[in-house]
Amino acid sequence: MKKTILAAAALLTASAASAETFAIQAGRLIVDPSKPARGPSTVIVENGRITRIEPGATAPTGATVIDQRSRTVLPGLIDAHVHLTGDPGTPFWRETIDSNELAAVVGVKNALLTARAGFTTVRDLGAPGLSSFALRDAVRDGIVPGPRILAAGSALSIVGGHGDVSGFRPEVNAALDPGGTCTGADQCAQRAREWAKRGSDVIKITSTGGVLSQQGRGLEGHFDPAEIRAITSTAHRLGLKVAAHAHGARGIEDATLGGVDSIDHGTFADAAALRAMKAKGTWFVPTLMAFTGVRDRLGKNIYTPVVEAKGRQAMAVWGHALREARRAGVKIAFGTDSGVFEHGRNGEEAELMVRLGGMTPREVLVSATTGAAELLGLSSEVGTLDLGKSADLIAVDGDPLTSAAALTRVGYVMVMGKPVAMR
Ligand SMILES: [Zn+2]
Repeated sequence: MKKTILAAAALLTASAASAETFAIQAGRLIVDPSKPARGPSTVIVENGRITRIEPGATAPTGATVIDQRSRTVLPGLIDAHVHLTGDPGTPFWRETIDSNELAAVVGVKNALLTARAGFTTVRDLGAPGLSSFALRDAVRDGIVPGPRILAAGSALSIVGGHGDVSGFRPEVNAALDPGGTCTGADQCAQRAREWAKRGSDVIKITSTGGVLSQQGRGLEGHFDPAEIRAITSTAHRLGLKVAAHAHGARGIEDATLGGVDSIDHGTFADAAALRAMKAKGTWFVPTLMAFTGVRDRLGKNIYTPVVEAKGRQAMAVWGHALREARRAGVKIAFGTDSGVFEHGRNGEEAELMVRLGGMTPREVLVSATTGAAELLGLSSEVGTLDLGKSADLIAVDGDPLTSAAALTRVGYVMVMGKPVAMR
C-alpha cells in the first residue's frame, strides 16, 4: 500500500516538470534586471530548467519553438503578497456562510489569472483553513495551472485583532475562530509551531490593526514586542520567515525590532520606523494596489462604519511610505495584496510604484524578480534566467526596463518549464 502511494507521488512530481525541450526565441532578453538587456536570443529549456542561452533565433532539433521575437523575454514576476483564495467585494458576513473548501476552488480560478498576468511565483499571506496549502500542492503536482505558491495559512493575531473574527455575535465570532490568535510569548510560539506543523511555508502575523476587518481598535501596534520576538525566534528556528502585516509606525517599528523578515503595507511608516528597517535589513512590501480596492469602495455604503474610517485614514497617505522608504535605502520587494482588488491586475502595481513611490522601472523590475526572490528565500531557483534555474519566464510587449506599463502587457508565460494557456 505504502509503495503504491510513493509511486503515485513520484508520478505526480515527474508530471509537474515537463520533459519537453523548448526553444524560446526572444526579440530582447533580460537575464537579470540589474544588468543591461541582450538583443535577439534563444532560451533553451529542458526538463523544466534553463540549460542554454544562445545568441540569435535558434531552433535545436526536437525542440518546440516558441516565437517571441516581437517581445522582451524576462524572468517570471514574483508577488510577495497575495490572497488567492478570496475575491474583492465579498461582504464580510459571507464568512459565516462560505466554506474553506469553496475558498480552495476560488483559488484555482485565481491561480490561473495570476499566472496569466506574468506572476510565476507568489507568497499567499492568509487564507481560510488549509485552502491555500491544498492549492499550493495541486499546482506543485501539476493538477491545476498556476504560479509556484508559498503559503502562510492563517495569520497569527491578537485576540480581537486583524486576523481574528469580529463583527458578529460573540458565539458566532468564536465559532469562526481561525486558530491563529494568541496571548503571551508561550502561546504565540505555540501557534507558530502549530501552523508550521500544518504546512506553512512562511508565518504571517498581523502586528497592527488592519483596514478591512471589523476590529475597531485602530491601525497601530497590537502584538506586544515580547510576543513578536517569540514568534520570529520560533519560526526562524523552524526555517520559516515571518511576514508582518503592519500599518501604524510604532507597530512597524515593534515588528522590525522583533525580527520579522518583511513589513507588508507599511502605510504610516515614519523616519524612525524606516531607520529601524534599514538597520535590520527588513524588506518593505508596499501593496499599493490594495488601496485601489479600498478607494473604489469608500463612500458607497459597501463598508461598515468601522472599516470606512480606517480606509479613509490609510488612503490619505497612499504611497508616502514607499517614497520615504526608497529614499532611506530600505530594501523593497514587489507585493500587491491581490484579493483586495481583482486577481490578474497584479502588474498594475508597477506603475503605482513609479508614480507614487518615485521608483524607476528598472528598480520596480528588480523588486519583482531578484528582490522578491531573496525575500522568499528562492534566489537559487527563480528571479533571473541563469542556467540551471527553474524555467519561470514571461514575454511582454515593450521594454519593462524603461516602462513599468510593459509589465501589464504579458503575452507568454512559462511556469516551471510548462507553458500557461493564455486563454
Ligand atoms: Zn493581505
